This record gives sequence, structure tokens and C-alpha cells, in this order.
Amino acid sequence: MGEFSMELNEDQLQLQKWVHDFSENVIRPAASEWDEREETPWPIIQEAAKVGIYSFDFVAQCFFDPTGILMPIMNEELAWGDAGITLSLLGTTLGLAGIAANGTPQQMLEWGPQCFGTPEKIQLAAFCVSEPDAGSDVSSLRTRAVYDEAKDEWVLNGTKTWITNGGIADVHVVVASVDPELKSRGQASFIVPPGTKGLSQGQKFKKMGIRASHTAEVVLDDVRVPGSCLLGGKEKLDEKLARAREGKKSSSQAAMRTFEASRPSVGAQAVGIARAAYEYALDYAKEREAFGKKIIQNQGIAFKLADMKTRVDASRLLVWRAAWMGATQKDFTAGEGSMSKLFAGETAVKVTEEAIQIMGGYGYIREHPVERWHRDSKIYTIFEGTSEIQRLIIARAISGLYIA
Ligand SMILES: Cc1cc2nc3c(=O)[nH]c(=O)nc-3n(C[C@H](O)[C@H](O)[C@H](O)COP(=O)(O)OP(=O)(O)OC[C@H]3O[C@@H](n4cnc5c(N)ncnc54)[C@H](O)[C@@H]3O)c2cc1C
Repeated sequence: MGEFSMELNEDQLQLQKWVHDFSENVIRPAASEWDEREETPWPIIQEAAKVGIYSFDFVAQCFFDPTGILMPIMNEELAWGDAGITLSLLGTTLGLAGIAANGTPQQMLEWGPQCFGTPEKIQLAAFCVSEPDAGSDVSSLRTRAVYDEAKDEWVLNGTKTWITNGGIADVHVVVASVDPELKSRGQASFIVPPGTKGLSQGQKFKKMGIRASHTAEVVLDDVRVPGSCLLGGKEKLDEKLARAREGKKSSSQAAMRTFEASRPSVGAQAVGIARAAYEYALDYAKEREAFGKKIIQNQGIAFKLADMKTRVDASRLLVWRAAWMGATQKDFTAGEGSMSKLFAGETAVKVTEEAIQIMGGYGYIREHPVERWHRDSKIYTIFEGTSEIQRLIIARAISGLYIA
């Protein structure tokens, strides 16, 4: 009989501790400042690159970990320090995931390292899917990609919105429609290399939370990229389009596949925020006195903390299961990736709100981090598929029916 264990091994524990120490010593002390500044925390990215956390090698090690567990561990520990800074560090990973999902191994080797650059010359990547009129409904992208056969170039036109690292990234991975009539089956992903003419940043958004992470529009105006920048290559795309035109079943959808693969990682970030808030509130409740006793000695407060801890642990288990399923090529027959992101995202919102409540007035002021954690948590029910979209995916998976 094979063994079953829910314990991390030595290597996994070591990696967890390494990332946690960086998060505790570098990220968390800087969190408030970058939240207020609402700017990309370049010095922190620099620091992370210096120690090797912001690097293609490290992310690839987590990404291709055969157990799947390293990716959520890394995400949770970083987000425990600060989610906005984490997204500044890991926004690049979204672009990388876009390349991994649809690119050839050669494209991954060529572009993966360029997404990160070097400690001397940091580079960022962005994954550009969402548009002003196509967020949840990624099948209706308007950004067009037209092939110029004479030059073997693709010409991209359109506007992307809400893009993490949009416009400040060196490598933009753009999902565009090649044949709009085929909806999502007529889409393809493209690399827009550093310095390509015609790609510019539109407005930068001011946000409720994760303010250290840059979110902006990306405008594509006659952006020309070489044929080699089509992820997966022309032959594969032509085959896919031909299958779709004949009405045959599709094997994948460019954008959806990328999101499915990255959902447990995003869920793990939500776990990190929720855990931070739970720990903070627990410490506080054991110290703070009212009516002559510690506030945790009231069942009303203690039960909140019991629920918070239970939800945090349940979220982590769902995240780890989904990450393991992804890495070991299991079928997500019940939308387990979506489940993990749904539950962890909603847990982060709930737990951070309860942390504020437990701290009373002190929870509401900026002297303590819990109000920021609550603001940060809310994005986890929105991006990478809203909670409603996660429920749709789960509902369709468990029913086998098209639920609208
Ligand atoms: C800070 C931030 C960073 C982001 N980063 C990126 C990025 O790097 N790259 C990228 O491509 N995108 C990114 N996004 C976009 C994000 O993924 C979208 O905002 C999200 O998918 C929702 O799309 P939408 O905003 O258009 O909402 P809509 O699709 O307009 O949805 C509005 C509401 O309707 C609900 N709804 C929609 N359809 C259904 C349905 N069928 N059933 C039930 N309810 C439904 C939604 O759940 C939501 O509550 C980011 C967004 C933010 C805010």
C-alpha cells in the first residue's frame, strides 16, 4: 500500500521558512508604506530578486514541482506579509502561466527568463485578457489579431483593462481573437516583446486594496509581433480553428485554461491574508481587556476565532488538494480548482472583517494592518474569476449540465 501523509517534508518546510522569513522581515514592514504610495514597490522587488525569490528559476521550481504544493506554500507565505506587494512580485507569474499553458517548451525557455530579467535589470510580465466589455465573459474579446502572411507577422489591435503590471511590464502576454465568430475557440495568445511599438499604458487605476500592485489599461495600436510570438505556433492554431469551424469538440480554451491552472495559487494568497488577520486578532483578543477580563474569554469572541481558524485551515486544504490535482494531472471533475479559489477568497473577506470586529475601534484605524487586509481581501472574490463564475464552473462540473 502507498503511503498517505499530510505533513510537509524537509525540503518543503525549508522553502516555506525561507519565504516566510523574507515576508516577515522585508515585505510586512514595507506594506503600509506601499499601500499609501500606491506604487510598484521596486526596492522590494529588487530585494526579492537579490535573494532569488523574484526569479525564473525559483518560480519554475515551484511551478513544475511534481507535488504541486510549493506554489501554494510560496503564495501563502508572501501574501501573509502583504498581498499588494505579493501581486507586484507574482503578477509576472500570471504572464508566465499564460506562456506555460499555451506556448511550446522552446517558447517557455526563450521567454520565461525574460519575464523576470536579472537582479541587475529587473523585468516584469503581464497577462492581458480582460477588456472593458469582456471580464467574466472572456469569449467576447474584441482585441483582434490579424496575420500578415507576407511579413510573417501578427498585428494586434484593441484595449485591455485591469491589467496587473499593464504597461510597465516588459513582456505582455495578450489573448486576442483571430476569428471572432468562433468566440473563445477563435482566440490565441501572443507574446508582445519588450519595447514593441504600438503598445502603451492607458489609465492607471486607483484601487480599494492591493494598492502596491499596478493595475492599468493596455492599449494595442497596430502592434506588430513576429510569427514566432504566437504561443503554440501557427500550425497548432490552424488545426484548432479548423476543428472549431467543423464544430468538433475543443480540447482547450486559451484563456480559461490559464486561469484554471492558476486558481489554487490565487486561493493560497487569500489564505495568507486570512491567516495573517486571524493570528493578529487572536493575539489581540488574548491581550485586550474589557469588563475586567480578556475579551477572548467571552464566548462571542472566542467562537469567532474558532470559526476563523477553521475556515483558514479548510481553505488551505482545498487549495492544496487542487494544486496537487493540477500537478498530478487529475481531472477537475467537480471544479476543485474553482472551489479552492471561491472558498479561500470568501474566507479572506469574512476573516479579515471579523478581525476588525474583534479589535473594535483599533481594527478600523490605519495604525493596525487589519483594515488594510480587509481592503486587500476583497479582490479575491473578483479577479481570476468572480465568486459567481467559480460557482458556475463548479455547478456545471457537478451537474454535467449547462447552467446559465
Ligand atoms: C485589481 C485587479 C487586477 C486584475 N488583474 C488582471 C490581469 O492581470 N489580467 C486580466 O486579464 N484581468 C485582470 N483583472 C480583471 C478581472 O479578472 C475581472 O475584473 C473579473 O474577471 C471580472 O470581470 P468584470 O470586472 O468585467 O465583471 P463582470 O464580468 O462585468 O461581472 C460583474 C458582476 O456580474 C457577475 N456575473 C457576470 N456573469 C455572470 C453569470 N453568468 N452568472 C452570475 N453572475 C455573473 C460577476 O460575478 C460580477 O459580480 C483584474 C481586475 C482587478 C480589479
